[in-house]
Amino acid sequence: MKNTILEYFLKYVKIDTMSMEDQNKVPSTDKQFNLAKVLVKDLEELGLEDIKLTEHCFVTAVLKSNCNSNLHIGFVAHMDTIPGFSGTNVNPQIVNNYDGKVIKLKGIELNPKQFPFLNDLVGKTLITTDGTTVLGADDKAGVADIMAMLNYYVNNPNQPHVNIHVAFTPDEEIGGGIDYMDVKGFGCDFAYTVDGLHYDEIEYENFNASSALVEVSGLDIHPGSAKGQMKNAARIAMEFDSLLPEFERPEYTDGYEGFNHLCEISGEVGSAKLVYILRNHDKNKLLKQQNDFMNTEAFLNNKYGKGTVKVTIKHSYSNMRELIEKDDRCVKRAEVAMRSLGIEPVSNPIRGGTDGAKLTLMGLNTPNIGTGGYNCHGPYEMACLEEMELVVKTLIEIAKEQ
Ligand SMILES: [Zn+2]
Repeated sequence: MKNTILEYFLKYVKIDTMSMEDQNKVPSTDKQFNLAKVLVKDLEELGLEDIKLTEHCFVTAVLKSNCNSNLHIGFVAHMDTIPGFSGTNVNPQIVNNYDGKVIKLKGIELNPKQFPFLNDLVGKTLITTDGTTVLGADDKAGVADIMAMLNYYVNNPNQPHVNIHVAFTPDEEIGGGIDYMDVKGFGCDFAYTVDGLHYDEIEYENFNASSALVEVSGLDIHPGSAKGQMKNAARIAMEFDSLLPEFERPEYTDGYEGFNHLCEISGEVGSAKLVYILRNHDKNKLLKQQNDFMNTEAFLNNKYGKGTVKVTIKHSYSNMRELIEKDDRCVKRAEVAMRSLGIEPVSNPIRGGTDGAKLTLMGLNTPNIGTGGYNCHGPYEMACLEEMELVVKTLIEIAKEQ
């Protein structure tokens, strides 16, 4: 099985699928079709049914149930890699029987002192970058894991399984790709994104998210004769930020703690602008954070005059937990699958959003499971083949008739 996983994985990571911000189209880059077409071919070779590639670069296919099961389970992974770091000419390096020492790559090194998890991977097979690109394990490890699971069932036709639906999707890294998914057409009772890290992860809590735009209008007057009149928007913008709770910032928070993150500040005397993202797993706590923004607006308008500060809050996405709890077959099934392999499932709150959270809100409960990848989004990215194998075994168990 390891060879099958590795073969798929190495083939997919070598295909450049970087997505790109601000393109106003899905997929954001045409090159994502290059992987999509290879996947269509691989699915055809496996003999899957209803293989489709849409104009928005969604690849879907079905392996029909070979037993009495009427259950339809979906497995989803994204094809694109992050826009922030090169995914061109990925040259994966294989480290067999890892000896626990520093792994030297071009210009960088994977050092167990910096990445202590490496100490747990001694003796394992690691796949790294050559130091100059991402690896694309996020999320081609997920794509390869799903393909290896399909490969297992196609080659073991006596093993009873449910209806297995797969979807390989575009533009996860820039957000928004999944909005073009035909959830009804996918036809599943529930699904999983295979887009986490560790093989023992089952994640079904993510942030509730909104954004806040703070616009400050000042009054620009010659500084020599400004006494009692000038309203310096840049300074008022700084004051706005200083009035927000000091410790509710990303650099001070962890686990279930929410934050307000100042992503952008710009301005001069006449006008200034602050852009924040607000995050919390707890809906009511997020409302409190939003209230802090509105109260700060009111306070500063009282101090500097009506209309000085204008806050606009927009909803971004919601925590999937509430919906998952209403029908938690997906979580329960994954937990049973992992335990049958001797894996104790771990559920950490995701400090971000996932495509699965969006799918859940679109009506398809979709928690997230791990891939066997590490250190996403940069040249330190790597994967552990034995952990990918555990993920594939978990997927096989999930799809098994129970
Ligand atoms: Zn991902």
